[in-house]
Amino acid sequence: MSETSTYDFDVIVIGGGPGGYVAAIRAAQLGARTALAERDRLGGTCLNKGCIPTKSLLNSAEKFYETKKNAGDYGIDAGLLKADLANFVVKKNQAVDRLVSGVTYLMKKNNIKVFKGTAAFVDEHTIRVGEDRITSDKIIIATGSQVRDITLPGDMSLCVSSNEILNTEKIPENFVVIGGGVVGIELASVFHCLGSKVTVLEVMDDILLPFDRELVAILKEKLRRDGITVITSATVKEIRTAEGKSRVVIESGGKEQAPAADLILLAAGRKPCLDGLQPEKAGLRFSEKGIPADPDTMQTNVKNIFAIGDVAGGIQLAHFASAQGIAAAEQALGVKSHVNLKVVPSCVYTVPELSSAGMTEEATKAKNLPYKVARFPMRGNGKSVVAGETDGLVKLIYNEESGEIFGIHILAERAADIIGEAALALNMELTAAEIAATIHPHPTVCEAVMEAAHIASGSPIHQ
Ligand code: FAD
Repeated sequence: MSETSTYDFDVIVIGGGPGGYVAAIRAAQLGARTALAERDRLGGTCLNKGCIPTKSLLNSAEKFYETKKNAGDYGIDAGLLKADLANFVVKKNQAVDRLVSGVTYLMKKNNIKVFKGTAAFVDEHTIRVGEDRITSDKIIIATGSQVRDITLPGDMSLCVSSNEILNTEKIPENFVVIGGGVVGIELASVFHCLGSKVTVLEVMDDILLPFDRELVAILKEKLRRDGITVITSATVKEIRTAEGKSRVVIESGGKEQAPAADLILLAAGRKPCLDGLQPEKAGLRFSEKGIPADPDTMQTNVKNIFAIGDVAGGIQLAHFASAQGIAAAEQALGVKSHVNLKVVPSCVYTVPELSSAGMTEEATKAKNLPYKVARFPMRGNGKSVVAGETDGLVKLIYNEESGEIFGIHILAERAADIIGEAALALNMELTAAEIAATIHPHPTVCEAVMEAAHIASGSPIHQ
């Protein structure tokens, strides 16, 4: 592209996670001489320690749970079935390796030069990676986030982070999760399916806080029925070990409780990854919340440097990091680009799954927007009845006058797959009537979205 440029590259991306490697691909596609620096494995948290490993473990654990639960119906002795967590980990590693090698291939295919090592700023156009000193016109920071270390009073020998737990090979009898966010609840589901007695402790007054409260309440009730204990407003006082038995001592609602623990997951948040980066050398503004960037341009206070994904201190989701990566590469190379912050779908991979796009009812109310709610329960959906997964509903929040949709929230089997349709509808600013007029395949779970849209349009069909 810039043959007259005095820099080694047009774009350098720091960090090879879903934000960084996608930004690098887009920059290269636009003709930029592109480099990427990564100190660990390509794919970042998402492929190596996050989205993919957790979903692999969940998939194996849910298959085991379902088989064991239904074995009797097929004349199979459920007592003979045993989960081998060590083998789940092998299977998980195979999936991760396959996807990481896919990213490696994409770097080669797009002629992106990959530097292995920790990148540190020298100035606003120069970074150092090991022995290499590299200059670039534009720099995109995508260094992601890492586990936030927490210290609790007492014996922490049973505590693990979300990194370590992915390679645990022993199923604990009692599993305690500290933190009722998405990571905590998904890993609680894994160990529940494997037969552990699971307790989730959350310091706030509810779990899964960004999600619609009505759907979270239904999910919580389902988790309770499954045998997962959720304790909210819980302050951890101490981890007490006596005579070889450990307990997490908490206070909740003025009462002390002490659930037994053989393994404790610390899932109370992550922090932006700035170690080794030396952002001050480039004159960048930063804090423990990350490197602030303009939400539209992703530019930092230093105009040729952009920050995307988890390190920018906003939404911590892989698909959001990737969308920002594409937009930042385009903006860096003078192409007009935009990320629609109003529609960032998010999901919890429990049974049933919970997913969300647009505003929750609470957020709509807080904005004083006139709204109505259409609900279609999954017990009215043919595919869900066939699968025996009738817990949950589709909830559509809309304006009755204009038909504008504010948010769509789904609690159902495969809700995470279906929310893509909701995100598309919101992004295209479709009305409820337009969704209702779209023929959906039968029998599918996504028909429930159409049914909710029929209700919102004033012409309910299967209700
Ligand atoms: P990262 O993926 O963290 O990548 C940053 C990369 O930068 C890393 O590879 C790191 O090694 C590298 N790096 C850091 N500093 C330097 C440096 N100085 N020099 C060179 N390289 C450096 N999100 C979802 O959307 N769906 C999910 O299901 C989901 N599940 C998750 C489950 C878990 C257990 C966790 C922890 C997270 C999950 N997430 C999920 C969140 C998701 O993983 C992150 O939002 C996403 O990976 C952020 O992408 P990123 O590119 O900003 O950063």
